[in-house]
Amino acid sequence: MEILKKIPECKSVVNNLKKKCLIIGFVPTMGFLHEGHLSLIRMARKECDRVFISIFVNPTQFGPGEDFEKYPRDMKRDISLAKKGGVDYIFYPAAKEMYGPYFKTSVEVKELGSIMCGKCRPGHFAGVTTVVLKLINIVRPDKAYFGQKDYQQLVIIKRMIDDLNLDVEIIGGPTIRENDGLALSSRSKYLSVEERENATILYECLKIAKDMIKKGEKDLEKIKKTIITNLGKNRFVKKVDYFDFRDPGTLEYLKRVDKKGKKILAATAVWIGRTRLIDNMIIKV
Ligand code: AMP
Repeated sequence: MEILKKIPECKSVVNNLKKKCLIIGFVPTMGFLHEGHLSLIRMARKECDRVFISIFVNPTQFGPGEDFEKYPRDMKRDISLAKKGGVDYIFYPAAKEMYGPYFKTSVEVKELGSIMCGKCRPGHFAGVTTVVLKLINIVRPDKAYFGQKDYQQLVIIKRMIDDLNLDVEIIGGPTIRENDGLALSSRSKYLSVEERENATILYECLKIAKDMIKKGEKDLEKIKKTIITNLGKNRFVKKVDYFDFRDPGTLEYLKRVDKKGKKILAATAVWIGRTRLIDNMIIKV
């Protein structure tokens, strides 16, 4: 496994692989790897000749006062996990390698980037799409893998790739969870023992929503109210940023279940103490 820190170095490796017509798979990450990342790496390993990951805590997707500085980092551990996972190349640039002193460009997916997490974190998705586009231009993968855990991000990236006619297939991987249902996340490292125990409430609420829909409840606003009341009763829940039902393809807001066979995205962002966690579930009606 090779670690590439400079853009020209990475581009030259990519050029050589392209000359050999090898299929490149790419998993962009912010590091502090866990089973969620490793599952995407395994998918890439199965479907591609060479696997790239990037490890880059992208400053432009963090707002002022967010956790950029304290975001967990452990390169030594990441290298060892990546090696075991069968990664061929880690692109590991410094912030100044990605953003030179004259950097001015931003790519934004309008509307989709300003709802749900985008409403609570203004500028976040523009930071994500800009860095993902840069990474894709550097690595030029045939296939790029993203987790459904960040469902809105996946929809936005697919939209950008399609809108800008980029030749990369975007593949979504399932959310990997702990045994008690908590979706794996680098940020769960911030949780105290008690907060960690209570963090399962996100998944529990998604399951309650699913049960209510499966039992025939059509009024999604009513379900939402029940869930938000339920969340409010837990003393570790400091704030509910949102609990929404949306169309899984377009992210259009849904108030009612209208057709059988339809899929509904239930998605939530909740503060457990000082840690913001997100989760979602696709519910088939
Ligand atoms: P991050 O390092 O948090 O930016 O995540 C890098 C990639 O891993 C993104 O595509 C995430 O959606 C994905 N990912 C993070 N957590 C999980 C998880 N629990 N299950 C599946 N994919 C995940």
